[in-house]
Amino acid sequence: MSTNDPDCLFCKIIAGDIPSSKVYEDEQVYAFKDINPKAKVHVLVVPKVHYANVAELAEKDPALLAHVVQIAQKIADEQADGTFRLIFNTGRNAGQSVFHVHAHVLTGEVLPE
Ligand code: IMP
Repeated sequence: MSTNDPDCLFCKIIAGDIPSSKVYEDEQVYAFKDINPKAKVHVLVVPKVHYANVAELAEKDPALLAHVVQIAQKIADEQADGTFRLIFNTGRNAGQSVFHVHAHVLTGEVLPE
């Protein structure tokens, strides 16, 4: 699968044009450490195909959304105790700043409520 938006930050990271701290990669997703971590472990799991947000991903490729969740679990198993918080900011007013769907995986500590 290739990426498809030359102006997208996360497409550039997936392509290797911008450096990142890779945690996991397969044919469908690329996962890397968030540059501004909000928890001891803060990883972004990003589908390689460019969808703007999780609602678009759910509509167009629900199996890929399920895969993103499975990779979040794998990262939490490998880097923490298997527990994790999964966040998809969706829309600017909800805090989304990069309009290429990504799951924030937060773990590695007891998270605040
Ligand atoms: P959003 O605000 O939900 O769209 O999340 C975007 C996330 O991308 C933020 O948590 C940023 O810290 C993170 N981010 C932005 N640029 C980079 C980068 O170059 N490398 C890693 N993470 C980044």
